[in-house]
Amino acid sequence: MPAPAEYKWPNADNLYCRSYCPLHPGVHKIVFDLVDEIMDVFDAHAFHAGMDEVFYLGEDKCPRCAGRDKAVLFANEVQLIRDHLAEKGRELWIWGDRLIDGRATGIGEWAASYNDTYRAVDMIPRDVVICDWQYDRDNQTAVYFALKGFRVITCTWNKPQVAVSQVEDLYRSRALSGKELKSRFYGIAETIWSMPPQFLSGYYGKAPNSTAENTPWNTFRVMFDKMAQLDSAGGSK
Ligand SMILES: [Zn+2]
Repeated sequence: MPAPAEYKWPNADNLYCRSYCPLHPGVHKIVFDLVDEIMDVFDAHAFHAGMDEVFYLGEDKCPRCAGRDKAVLFANEVQLIRDHLAEKGRELWIWGDRLIDGRATGIGEWAASYNDTYRAVDMIPRDVVICDWQYDRDNQTAVYFALKGFRVITCTWNKPQVAVSQVEDLYRSRALSGKELKSRFYGIAETIWSMPPQFLSGYYGKAPNSTAENTPWNTFRVMFDKMAQLDSAGGSK
């Protein structure tokens, strides 16, 4: 389908996200070229493919995807990219939201899936690393991914209280888990959704809202303080 001359976001569906058609015969030549170039330039071992907020998938208007199982479409795409990376001993990381049932969990349609992709969690290779972004609440979904067999990185953003709870989860999960499970609680990451200078000026006290509570820089600081506190208390790393 030809792209419109001008995109307006959010669109009529209240979405700003676009997807590519995973069954388009020309798409993977471009995707793999891009992936390979980025990996080579950065001399990287792991590639984060995103794959979050995929709302448009298996659309009725698509001559290739119409009527297909969206979970299978999503899982096959994960498998393809994972296999391509594995050829050179590289690993795939993706966001976890499409793999969580948004209705059953009440997490909603952004940080979890309303479009039936969540069943893909049982179809994708277990060596994919899941970046589980849960920004507004500590939904404890890391446990879900770990029990499914994935390494999981809990991702936080701009709510320090959520991050503190997630750090506590991480340490508790590692402490409670046996050998098989422990290493799957892979870590916790602060994400930022601005240009780096904005984060850095906030972090170094040079932004007007540097001292505000719910900011990425304060979340980052509080998250590290909490880890230091638990480490010095003899917590499980
Ligand atoms: Zn399609």
